[in-house]
Amino acid sequence: MNEARPQSLSSFWMPFTNNRDFKANPRLLVSAEGVYYKDVDGNSVLDGTAGLWCVPCGHRQPKIVAAVSEMVSQLDFAPTFQMGHPAAFDLAEKLMEFTNHRFGHVFYTNSGSEAVDTALKIALAYHKARGEASRTRLIGRERAYHGVGFGGISVGGIAGNRKPYGVMLPGVDHLPHTHNIEKNAYSRGEPEYGTHLADELERIVALHDASTIAAVIVEPVAGSTGVLVPPKGYLKRLRELCTKHGILLIFDEVITGFGRLTTPFATDYFDVEPDMMTTAKGLTNGTIPMGAVFSKKFIHDAFMEAPPGIELFHGYTYTGHPVACAASLATLEVFQEQKLLDRAKEIQPYWEDAVHSLKGLPHVIDIRTIGLVAGIELAPRAGAPGARAFAAFKKAFADGVLIRVTGDIIALSPPLTFERKHIDELFGKIGKVLMTLE
Ligand code: PLP
Repeated sequence: MNEARPQSLSSFWMPFTNNRDFKANPRLLVSAEGVYYKDVDGNSVLDGTAGLWCVPCGHRQPKIVAAVSEMVSQLDFAPTFQMGHPAAFDLAEKLMEFTNHRFGHVFYTNSGSEAVDTALKIALAYHKARGEASRTRLIGRERAYHGVGFGGISVGGIAGNRKPYGVMLPGVDHLPHTHNIEKNAYSRGEPEYGTHLADELERIVALHDASTIAAVIVEPVAGSTGVLVPPKGYLKRLRELCTKHGILLIFDEVITGFGRLTTPFATDYFDVEPDMMTTAKGLTNGTIPMGAVFSKKFIHDAFMEAPPGIELFHGYTYTGHPVACAASLATLEVFQEQKLLDRAKEIQPYWEDAVHSLKGLPHVIDIRTIGLVAGIELAPRAGAPGARAFAAFKKAFADGVLIRVTGDIIALSPPLTFERKHIDELFGKIGKVLMTLE
């Protein structure tokens, strides 16, 4: 009996997991180093997904490990309600630099879901503070994932995440998604077709009236529903329409942030500026849970004009947790010292060619790439949507590579420290999996 094995798998109710299937055939990770995990049987597993899109610097970066250890032994916890600690303020300044001073302020949360709900609340309170209390409507998009809070599932567009619950935020509408295999299959970067879909916002404005709409939230590249890349000019058009109608534009960059597209954020990649930006995951290299909402100065200013007192009745016990701040400060240093964005840019063409080399393999009906992200869409098995990709996930894990699947799409997002040899290993193994997949 391996010492590392848990005594029982029964009591942990696992998230977004087929619990019964997993517990009959578990996959247990016990350590990680660089771009590899080690499983409980001692097998190496190449991390093709940076954990859950959240480990851009690679696993167990010594600098981050040291910063976390040091902080936890110095300041294990400190509240940020009506007091503070230096790391929270230092991190905020560093984050302003990392976001190229596009934003004026940052609000900390503990997760992407909390960042999304925080941004939606700030949007509503912002309009109210300015005397436009009628702007309460929130616009999301089909096939969007914005986490699992009530705000996030309401503006989100994944039926499975909404249906079991029934109750949603009122007054939410959705833009259509932009995914279109007939027109855009095998695209590299932004696809040509679909820019006009941003104009659907005009239809929604005509229906509800701009004076009722607070914000539009989109993932610049939708990750969790299978790497849906925005058509050329689509995000710019959304920006224009939001500005025209006084609607705040929120980019949910929980996945696209921290180098995923080879730039610090998608806002840099697409050169489109949202009014708020939600982040998490890579913010601490996944080491300690943390999220953050970035806001333009004018939004924060609107709150500071209120009579003296608490300006925003919102926050979490763990907002700006010192250990999370230490992890994030160290993450930013690793980005700089290891020139991770340059490395990502340098390897991106090799990555892109390697992914597209899978074209023509059994079941593959589309491949799309942008930055260090790839979506490989498989034809579903008749009457069993998702089953083929899930089988691919299990086979790949058994063969020593971690891939992520959503529906019948394989979504890949390696650590930015991936080298050519890792790309060769990843696609060599995925290719073999596809050849033998039923
Ligand atoms: N928003 C986006 C775009 C995400 O991809 C995710 C998670 O994958 C979230 C929000 C939710 O983040 P968390 O799981 O940290 O709550």
